[in-house]
Amino acid sequence: MKKLLIFAATLSFTGSVYAAENSHWGYSGHQGPDNWASLTADNFACSGKNQSPVNLTGFIEADLEPIMFNYQPGGHEVINNGHTIQVNYEKGSSINLTGKTFNLLQVHFHAPSENHINGQSYPLEAHLVHADEQGNLAVVAVMFEQGVPNKGLEVQTDKYGSRQVIAVASANKWLKNIWSVMPSKAGETQKLLTMVNVADILPTNQDYYRFNGSLTTPPCSEGVQWLVMKKVMTVQQQQIDPFVEVLHEPNNRPLQPINSRTILQ
Ligand SMILES: [Zn+2]
Repeated sequence: MKKLLIFAATLSFTGSVYAAENSHWGYSGHQGPDNWASLTADNFACSGKNQSPVNLTGFIEADLEPIMFNYQPGGHEVINNGHTIQVNYEKGSSINLTGKTFNLLQVHFHAPSENHINGQSYPLEAHLVHADEQGNLAVVAVMFEQGVPNKGLEVQTDKYGSRQVIAVASANKWLKNIWSVMPSKAGETQKLLTMVNVADILPTNQDYYRFNGSLTTPPCSEGVQWLVMKKVMTVQQQQIDPFVEVLHEPNNRPLQPINSRTILQ
C-alpha cells in the first residue's frame, strides 16, 4: 500500500505536466497565471497563501544545516513539454536535508527567473526537483546570469591519450550538452547518449535560502520546500538564448505574496 501511495504521488506530480486536462494552461492570455486557479477544479491551490515564486528578502538568520548533495550522472532524457525543457533523472541521485533523503527526479528551467533575490530577477533559473519516500517535494533553485562562465576542474584525456586536469566552464558545458539535443517541438523527447550530472551546475559554495512554497505551475500544490542557492552561476548568453527561442514566450509565473512566511538563511 505504501509503495502504491508513493507511486501515485510521483505520478500526480510528473503527470501534471502531461495530463491532457492540465496541458491547457500557459503564461499569457485567458490561460495565463491570473486564471490558473479557475481553469480547472484541480488548480484550487493556485490561489493559496503559500505560493511560489516569491521575492526573497527580509532574511531571518537560522544557521541552516548544509544540504548534503549526493549527485551522480543520471540525466538520461530531455523533454520539451511545451512549458519548459526538462531533464529526467534515473534513480541514484539525492540530497540529504536535516536527516531526510529526497531523490532527484528532474531538472528544468525558467527564463527569466521566477524567484527574485532582493528584488533582482535573473535571465535563467534551474529547478532541481526532489521527492522523499512520502512524496514530499524539495526544489533546489540555481540562478544564472550572463557573464564569464564559472570554472570547475575536470580531468580530460587529450588525443594522444594523456590525462590532464584543466579548468573548464562546467555549467556552460552542461547546458551546451542539454541544449544540443533540445527538442524544438512540444511533446518531443530526446535521449542523451551520455548521462549528465547536475552537480556541474551547482555553485561550489552551497549556502542557501530556505522557505515554504508551492509548485510554480498548475496544480500549484503547496508544501514544497524551496532551497535557493545564494551564489549565482554565470554562463554565456549563447547558453540562455536557445532556451528562450524554443519556448517562444517567457515561462515565469509572476511573483506571489509572501504573506506570513519567513525566509531563512
Ligand atoms: Zn520550475
